Amino acid sequence: MTAPTIKPGTRDALGRFAPGNDQRLEKNGHWKGDAVSPEAARDRLKRRMPIHGPCEGCGAKASDRHHKDGNTRNNDPSNIAQLCRRCHMKADGRLAKIAAMDAWRSRRERKVGGR
Ligand SMILES: [Zn+2]
Repeated sequence: MTAPTIKPGTRDALGRFAPGNDQRLEKNGHWKGDAVSPEAARDRLKRRMPIHGPCEGCGAKASDRHHKDGNTRNNDPSNIAQLCRRCHMKADGRLAKIAAMDAWRSRRERKVGGR
């Protein structure tokens, strides 16, 4: 017995889309547009914008995509900087946080050591 033929753009008896029917992005019934989670928005960006070229901050090899406005759902190319990990952590303020934590730790150790 041969499989029944289905016209492209239609669904079969089980509700599956026929082969050749493009269901990507907004054509998909599950497409969330801007209502997507931050994690899914980052995954989208990784698929759409491969890393190429040097870090825009220091010229080293770029490894990260940085959202300049802090909104991970804004994947407009003008909002994305390709950075190395160090420049990305600096841009996000993570390096400053780590430095503050290190300073706090060494102050505390000095206090504990000199009691
Ligand atoms: Zn850099």
